[in-house]
Amino acid sequence: MKILVINCGSSSLKYQLIDMDDNKKVIAKGLCERIGIEGSRLTHKVPGHDDIVIDKEMKDHKVAVTMVMDALMDKEYGVVKDKSEIGAVGHRVLHGSVFFTDSVVINDEVKRVIRECFDLGPLHNPANLIGIEACEAILGDTPQVAVFDTAFHQTMPKKAYMYAIPSEYFEKYHIRKYGFHGTSHSYVSKRALEVADLDPDNSKVIVCHLGNGSSVSAVLNGKCVDTSMGLTPLQGLVMGTRCGDVDAAVVQYIANKENRTVDDVLNILNKKSGVLGISGVSSDFRDLEAAENEGNEAAHTAMECFVYSVVKYIGAYVAAMNGVDAIVFTAGIGENNKDIRNRVLSYFTYLGVEVDDEKNSVRGEEIVVSTPASKVKVCVIPTNEEVAIANETLACVQ
Ligand code: AMP
Repeated sequence: MKILVINCGSSSLKYQLIDMDDNKKVIAKGLCERIGIEGSRLTHKVPGHDDIVIDKEMKDHKVAVTMVMDALMDKEYGVVKDKSEIGAVGHRVLHGSVFFTDSVVINDEVKRVIRECFDLGPLHNPANLIGIEACEAILGDTPQVAVFDTAFHQTMPKKAYMYAIPSEYFEKYHIRKYGFHGTSHSYVSKRALEVADLDPDNSKVIVCHLGNGSSVSAVLNGKCVDTSMGLTPLQGLVMGTRCGDVDAAVVQYIANKENRTVDDVLNILNKKSGVLGISGVSSDFRDLEAAENEGNEAAHTAMECFVYSVVKYIGAYVAAMNGVDAIVFTAGIGENNKDIRNRVLSYFTYLGVEVDDEKNSVRGEEIVVSTPASKVKVCVIPTNEEVAIANETLACVQ
């Protein structure tokens, strides 16, 4: 079966067409940018061909989905003859609140609940629903599946997800910790069982998804028992532009001092903080590393704060699970930045962590980078959220 994976943002649409019967091969992928804004563009990539770039107005996501379908079925560079060749569509949906503990085939009721979660994911859920409705309009009866970023974390116990605020807010508004990057944590923790040769029913895995957005999760016997992100993806680690954990009083303090609204301050905490905010250099770790190597003190502080925040979450989750069998790194920084991995792992010599420098230099493959003598296995496992979404979609429609 060929599965179309769709990831909609407010003005963008990323897609991949994956052939599940041919080793989960990506047949085509691409990106629609500036949907609803002047200068819209579709970049379509087919392995073995030059990129196809189409500059054409996309007034909404429906037009974008139509252009994607046209590109997929194009006479010259198309990869399917008819839309009926697409067996199912898998949509990444940010927030499923308490309502979705798993992926689900989309119907009217599912759409109603995704709409009910708009307040919890104001930047993403509305765009996700628009993408779903655009695909319905164009692909008719083709089954569509919602894969939630929050679902994998729904196994957390109450002690991990409750905020210590009056319980009426939990009861009335479902305010609690949810966690995000669920498809990545789920995929990577499952792969870790194989890569590190662990017993699925007796395993303690800590997954560090370190990218522009970063989160750590504790996975006990295959089930998430805690994760660093919260009600929204703002909580937890220091990130590219997000502040991670801060005293909530900071919001009021900045608002009063700078005569700003709460929305203004949250915008600052989401978009102007993190390593960008501390360093003033960049949110991108390649730029940050270069600046640090040139002796930029603020870049050094930002790197140290990032590393220290990862270390504290790993330490907390070792305690939460009363031990750890494997620490796994994934996503842009986790997969590619050996220096950050080394800096994080240097705090865990007390656990008997030992890294093999040669293995730790390998890129782009699933690998155990710890030495055979290491008391905890350390792995690098490239995440693949699109394949994870396609897997979930297939499981739902079969
Ligand atoms: P992501 O959000 O997973 O795409 O990760 C983005 C982050 O990963 C950025 O801070 C990048 O600097 C970092 N990153 C991505 N690719 C590389 C690479 N090849 N080498 C070093 N860092 C990388």
